[in-house]
Amino acid sequence: SGVPPIDFRASLNDEQFAAVTAEPGPLLILAGAGSGKTRTLTYRVAYLLSKGVRPAEILLLTFTNKAAKEMLHRVHDLTGVEPGRFWGGTFHSIGNRALRIYGDAIGLPKNFTILDADESESLLKQVVETENKLFFKDKTNPKPGPLFSVLSLARNTQKPIDETVERYFPQYSEIKHMLPPFAAAYAAKKRAQDVLDYDDLLELWLELLKKAPDVAAYFANRFRHVLVDEYQDTNTIQSQIVDALAGHHQVMAVGDDAQCIYSWRGADFENLMTFEDRHPGTVIHRIETNYRSTPQILNLANGVLDAQPKGRHFEKELRAARKNGQRPMVVQTIDDREQADFILKRTRNLIEEEGVAPGEIAILYRSHFHALEIQLAFSRAGIPYQITSGVKFFERQHVRDLIAFVQFVANPRNESAWNRIAVLLPKVGDKGAQKIYAAAYDHAKLMQRDFVDALATDDVKTKVSKDAKDEWASFTASLKQISDVMRTGKPESVISTAIDGWYADYMKGEYADYIDRMEELKALIGFASRFDDIEEMLSQISLMNGETSEKHVDVPPDTVKLTTVHQSKGLEFDIVFVIGVADGMFPGRRAIEADDVEEERRLFYVAVTRAKNELYICYPKVATRAGPGGLLLTPSRFITELSPDLYEPLRIKRQFGW
Ligand code: ATP
Ligand code: MG
Repeated sequence: SGVPPIDFRASLNDEQFAAVTAEPGPLLILAGAGSGKTRTLTYRVAYLLSKGVRPAEILLLTFTNKAAKEMLHRVHDLTGVEPGRFWGGTFHSIGNRALRIYGDAIGLPKNFTILDADESESLLKQVVETENKLFFKDKTNPKPGPLFSVLSLARNTQKPIDETVERYFPQYSEIKHMLPPFAAAYAAKKRAQDVLDYDDLLELWLELLKKAPDVAAYFANRFRHVLVDEYQDTNTIQSQIVDALAGHHQVMAVGDDAQCIYSWRGADFENLMTFEDRHPGTVIHRIETNYRSTPQILNLANGVLDAQPKGRHFEKELRAARKNGQRPMVVQTIDDREQADFILKRTRNLIEEEGVAPGEIAILYRSHFHALEIQLAFSRAGIPYQITSGVKFFERQHVRDLIAFVQFVANPRNESAWNRIAVLLPKVGDKGAQKIYAAAYDHAKLMQRDFVDALATDDVKTKVSKDAKDEWASFTASLKQISDVMRTGKPESVISTAIDGWYADYMKGEYADYIDRMEELKALIGFASRFDDIEEMLSQISLMNGETSEKHVDVPPDTVKLTTVHQSKGLEFDIVFVIGVADGMFPGRRAIEADDVEEERRLFYVAVTRAKNELYICYPKVATRAGPGGLLLTPSRFITELSPDLYEPLRIKRQFGW
């Protein structure tokens, strides 16, 4: 085909070469970060093609669709075979593909619709409302948001609902008997509407493999080779799919148990440990050379794993293939703001003086809100950045809700702020919100009253739907408190009043992860403390949203990357800053309280092993989220556990006054 033959020997080390050219049979590649697992998988595909295997016989399962595309492009470069001729992608996308073509074997229509997370949740919400009306007196329970998380985890781990509740959501154990009927009603509703949620794509795919022998046989004949990257993060249902697919043919799984970071979504690295039992005749290959990082970065990464308690994991020691570099730096700053300033200065220097491409710089964090100050600093300095995962801080739903409370009180003519908060009340929709608004408007005008006061009058209350009446008093009281504080108090007091008001209760019911979201909102208090005036703060937020919203601005492809550690898995960058590495932030407070920091440690390991040339581990001494004065932080145990000769400490003195 005009593509020169591949020199596998020259492109791979001995361990990789052995894995790539292994004889037929189940293969497990166990190796640490940056050792070329993904590369090995890519070359294995190329090798199979060179042996006459057809692309249609290969199934490639990866963690993101982008990762699959990249691998297949590499294969294309190596072999000339077009990426479109393979089946490759995430479990969900391949499940979708399989169900579209063969789903009728289990009674699935071809034209089913896939609901995204929001749509699934709102469907569940309808179900909860109907069921409650029919069967249960308790109108307030269960809340659809948390219920959705429970049901999803149960499905992904293939465990009964009550067991899932007991183990992961003890706060719902009192109502756990109510949940299975909701699950059944939700499933029936989806079936009636020919819609699938994400979890269905896995569940029904597995069902197809198990219950439709013809289809299962077809798959078995077709995909003679199944290759899975990041195997340590498969959950029960995914590993059952792999097992079902690999029944009669070859499977190559690659993984690193030290990088299992998705147990909160049901991932279980036991799947990796027990792979051999489920696939008799497995040959295990290990790769112990790291090609990604300098020896100094690698020593620190090994140090992180050395601090793991002895337990069930594979021993791994990585040797560096690269030449010496500088030691990683552990950077202490006074607070978040100075952490951002340090990173901004260093980033500028790297780009402007040292010629580093912006896209080779990554800032990694445990939680989105840790990056708030960095977003501000970069926006102000005009350094383009890209948040590769999730949504920018001020565009997050709960952040926007909370800001809307403040915006509305600051200017009751802002009807869109009103609409945003009013529809949070039970059974209040856009129309209801408008009706209430109109009534309050008339009342305020007629009686020459303050708008917020007008909301609390009986005139207005009659316009509030029945289901929202109970909460109406605390809702309006919360607005009134915000309004009172706004008259005399500082912006940070306004924000904390809003956070402690009705919205706190709302969040508790609405979000299973409300503790995390609460923490995020508290980051706003620190932000507010920089302003003398609430209007000034609100306009700054509006400006920033306009300026940084990716929907409106073309983001240059080569920009600094801001991402959570979770989303950075598998990736690599010349320069990595890990921020917020303080106890209570990384590891997070909840992990510390639950005395279970091992997953957080693995997450930290993933973070530091993304770096090729330079690694900065940063932490603030004071958490500004509690406002000026702040909360004293201690460096993360993941730092203090390290031998001090593994890094270069750097203390940045205070540069800004309060
Ligand atoms: P992670 O655990 O983070 O997913 P990985 O084990 O998948 O890492 P890769 O991403 O495949 O590792 O490889 C890490 C880096 O090392 C890549 O830049 C890759 O090209 C390079 N690399 C791997 N093996 C070799 C080799 N034999 N020769 C040269 N470079 C290599
Ligand atoms: Mg990889």
